[in-house]
Amino acid sequence: MTWRATVLTLFPEMFPGTLGSSLAGKALADGKWALETIDIRDFATDKHRSVDDTPAGGGAGMVMRADIAAAAIDAARVNAAPGTPTLYLSPRGTPLTQDRVRTLAQAPGAILLCGRFEGIDQRVLDARNVEEVSIGDYVLSGGELAAQVLIDACVRLLPGVAGNEGSLAEESFASGLLEYPHYTRPREWEGRTIPDVLLSGDHRKIAEWRREQAEALTKTRRPDLWAKLKRK
Ligand code: SAM
Repeated sequence: MTWRATVLTLFPEMFPGTLGSSLAGKALADGKWALETIDIRDFATDKHRSVDDTPAGGGAGMVMRADIAAAAIDAARVNAAPGTPTLYLSPRGTPLTQDRVRTLAQAPGAILLCGRFEGIDQRVLDARNVEEVSIGDYVLSGGELAAQVLIDACVRLLPGVAGNEGSLAEESFASGLLEYPHYTRPREWEGRTIPDVLLSGDHRKIAEWRREQAEALTKTRRPDLWAKLKRK
């Protein structure tokens, strides 16, 4: 079954966006994954096609209406394979991790709800059992870039998409560590050389060096990840 991303957005023209190029773009053209956009505005019911209203209780900005977002979710679910999760990209959500990406890549796909304005009426998230997922502790102006981040991370794990699947096993987060540093020719550049061990041809020593580097980087840059690894 083809992994399918269904994106609910007020800006369908933003897709495929970055997903139309390079690895993801080629895989999309080759039919290794599928992308559908649903324009939330198509579910508006008034002549102005409005999708938002002022926040109950007052305050700045506008809120996406529950009835309109629900109609868009229901339409997306009609064609979704059983087991397809519905996720709302939201700074309040559970932070996206590589473990979660792995799980999502093994699902039939994902329905992704992109917010705009101040966000979406809470009732639709509760009523439709929508999980909130964040791509980081900062605020974007809309969920579309966040959806592209999530899709890109999933698509590169799909069978036959990454050119060199061996590299997936070694990259950052695969084993709970950040990845070791990389070098390539020229051997000397601006007086800086490639570490001797990488030119030694001794594969055991190279693996050892890379492991040490990965551990040292993780300890200093991401003590949270290091502590998690030690607890396992
Ligand atoms: N008022 C919201 C809050 O403080 O949590 C922020 C709304 S933001 C301006 C508009 C939309 O961008 C959100 O509904 C969400 O879909 C998306 N968004 C913003 N930051 C995000 C993040 N870090 N991760 C995922 N989606 C994000």
